[in-house]
Amino acid sequence: MQIRLPRRESAPAAERCELCSAGVAAEQPHLVEPRTRALVCVCDPCAMLFAEARPDARYVRVPRRARSLDGFKMTEAQWDALGVPVHLAFFVRSSPADGVIALYPSPAGAMESLVPPGAWNEIALENKAIRAMAPDVEALLVHRVGDAREHLLAPIARCFELTGMIRKHRTSILGSARDGADAEIHGFMARLKAEARVAG
Ligand SMILES: [Zn+2]
Repeated sequence: MQIRLPRRESAPAAERCELCSAGVAAEQPHLVEPRTRALVCVCDPCAMLFAEARPDARYVRVPRRARSLDGFKMTEAQWDALGVPVHLAFFVRSSPADGVIALYPSPAGAMESLVPPGAWNEIALENKAIRAMAPDVEALLVHRVGDAREHLLAPIARCFELTGMIRKHRTSILGSARDGADAEIHGFMARLKAEARVAG
């Protein structure tokens, strides 16, 4: 099942904390509301309030840094079984959906689909770091445009930043048509990897 996302497709960058209205710096923390997957820009003190995930909390704090996946294993058949028709997607373990959701850009806008549990579990079985992925706030980001085979655990705010960036270049990730998007995506992935610490 695939549905078009009605929500905003890129990470917001507010000048004021959306909870207390204090001024925020350029690299402000984000919270996410798991039910809607909406991102909220907050100040550091408000982010501290949500540092510990609590089952009854409306918001969960999104981590700032990506984590690299050394030795990540996924065969072509395992990728195909995830049911994503494009070459760039991210996968979030959703508490409200009680499953893993794939999010990706498409000609119709940002799409999401529920990943077949068996297909996900097969990949998770061979990749310990995937099993430890933080629900609702962290995503497996997969980049397979051209010859790229890149995999990272990325904060969902960064994933939305990426999808917002490439929204204007949709054709590139859908097939052979190439334009400036490839260079932008490669640059973004390189920055994310440079910031990343190793998932352990
Ligand atoms: Zn605040």
